[in-house]
Amino acid sequence: MDIAENIQKIKAEIPEEVTLVAISKTKPENDILEAYNTGHRHFGENKIQEMTEKWERLPKDIKWHMVGHVQRNKVKYMAEYVELIHAVDSLKLLKEIDKQAAKYDRSISCLLQIKIAEEDTKYGIDVDTARDILESSDYQEMSHVKIVGLMGMATLTEKTEKIKEEFSYLKTTFDEFKSRYKSFTTLSMGMSGDYKIAIECGSTMIRVGSSIFGERNYN
Ligand SMILES: *Cc1c(COP(=O)(O)O)cnc(C)c1O
Repeated sequence: MDIAENIQKIKAEIPEEVTLVAISKTKPENDILEAYNTGHRHFGENKIQEMTEKWERLPKDIKWHMVGHVQRNKVKYMAEYVELIHAVDSLKLLKEIDKQAAKYDRSISCLLQIKIAEEDTKYGIDVDTARDILESSDYQEMSHVKIVGLMGMATLTEKTEKIKEEFSYLKTTFDEFKSRYKSFTTLSMGMSGDYKIAIECGSTMIRVGSSIFGERNYN
């Protein structure tokens, strides 16, 4: 795997306004540094503990994205430094992020994860629940957390039309919310297998792991 070559190739083929988040979960620090040395700064992880260990040891100008499901009791470990939390799915979690961010006098940017895939193993909320959160007085009173957009994962399938349908649905929802909420800037959709489709459908941020770092080994 030539990590530097992979990342440069992907960046060259995507539109300039689309942000690439390199998903480095399970990968060693040297792999991250190879990508970093090409000038890349956005990296993503799905476990708070792993991300925090990497944050402690790697250059401090890396922007760390939490893309996995977040347990409330672990928010405190990343509140000091996290750039964007992609998978917020409850008001309770937002409250905890707000509370922990206040300790560092920061405002943490978050995305609401919308469930667009068929599989019921995937996390996420429906559009009505997302709207309820955005409209709630609880959220509106929070001053250390800001919802800046939506995130979604499409069904794992070879059927391009199905993936397109799901991403297009998310894009329509994003546009509707964007016209109502000024803070909306970011639509996080697309992974190694489907980021080209996601960009066609209006993604502004893609999360790519294996196409940059190679297959993951979980042993
Ligand atoms: C692992 C992961 C990715 C990257 O997946 P690849 O298929 O390796 O590109 C993207 N998003 C989330 C939420 C992930 O957990």
